[in-house]
Amino acid sequence: MDRRSILKNAGIAGVLAAGAAPAVHAQQAVRWRLASSFPKALDTIFGAAETFAKHVKEMSGGKFEISVHAAGEIAPALGVVDAVQQGSMECAHTAPYYFFGKNEAFALGCAIPFGLNSRQMTAWMYQGNGLTLMREFYAKYSMINFPMGNTGAQMGGWFRKEIKSVKDLKGLKFRTGGFPGKAIERLGVIPQNIPGGEIYTALEKGTIDACEWVGPYDDQKLGFNKVAPYYYYPGWWEGGPQLDLFINQKAFDALSSENKAIVQNAAAYAHTDMQAKYDAKNPAALKQLVGSGTKLRPFPKDVMAAAFKEAMALYSELNAKNEDWKKIYADFSKFRADSNLWFRFTEANFDKFMQEQKL
Ligand code: CA
Repeated sequence: MDRRSILKNAGIAGVLAAGAAPAVHAQQAVRWRLASSFPKALDTIFGAAETFAKHVKEMSGGKFEISVHAAGEIAPALGVVDAVQQGSMECAHTAPYYFFGKNEAFALGCAIPFGLNSRQMTAWMYQGNGLTLMREFYAKYSMINFPMGNTGAQMGGWFRKEIKSVKDLKGLKFRTGGFPGKAIERLGVIPQNIPGGEIYTALEKGTIDACEWVGPYDDQKLGFNKVAPYYYYPGWWEGGPQLDLFINQKAFDALSSENKAIVQNAAAYAHTDMQAKYDAKNPAALKQLVGSGTKLRPFPKDVMAAAFKEAMALYSELNAKNEDWKKIYADFSKFRADSNLWFRFTEANFDKFMQEQKL
């Protein structure tokens, strides 16, 4: 045995004697903070972050804990991407389309008008190129994302007056949030980006003519039905908006492989669970709303046709001026075309038949 081997062996013996070697598999305690872009009152959306944190804690045997903070507590609702990018907190739960002002491509990881429905979005993310393309894009902001929740197709919102044609939208002050306003304003609508807590008063006072939020379960809690009688569908700008868990890349890289797997699986559980909550809670809320006088109305055909045309024109413009958008949208739109070709035979026909039966 040469001198070097002797020293090496002595070193290992020393480590073993000190009892440090078995610690290779022991997990260090990890404490993270998560900033949500949502208020606690939104139990479905805010709750997805809590579900995630609970599962991370359970799967790690309590060694990995994430404290969940409502919008404004440790970061403003729309400041969470900056905070994660700068590393002032490890992670955030948000709707990526809020950040379209930084780059319109954020919207492709969330929802664009006439985009993908919830099932299609998850398929594009998990099994298509969605996750790879969005992660490549989010890397520019020093973040990695994990899909974490979807509301499913939203409602078109609450209107004080009936909408009979696309002409009735001209000059209409309409509360909507994020990227959808870019397409809606092309119809002559004046989009108003008002936080959730202030919409009711604005609608009651007539400062705005209409608003959209999410769907029956969340909308009923905010009481819009008391100040606007018409409830339109569908929310063509949000066919399946996906929320994301954004994690600072350095913080994620510093995790053990076990903790990385825990994050991935806890986020995947919260992703499915949030959609399940909406699908289970919306039916009863819609029944109660209609029972108390809400008038359900489909958007007129000319509104849908004009909106579709304007959305596609907007995407052509973005293809010409935003390279990130162009690259991701090319894949997104191909996936959308293929998926709709398939869904039209199976899901669409099965659902339509079942909805027409007396059950
Ligand atoms: Ca909405």
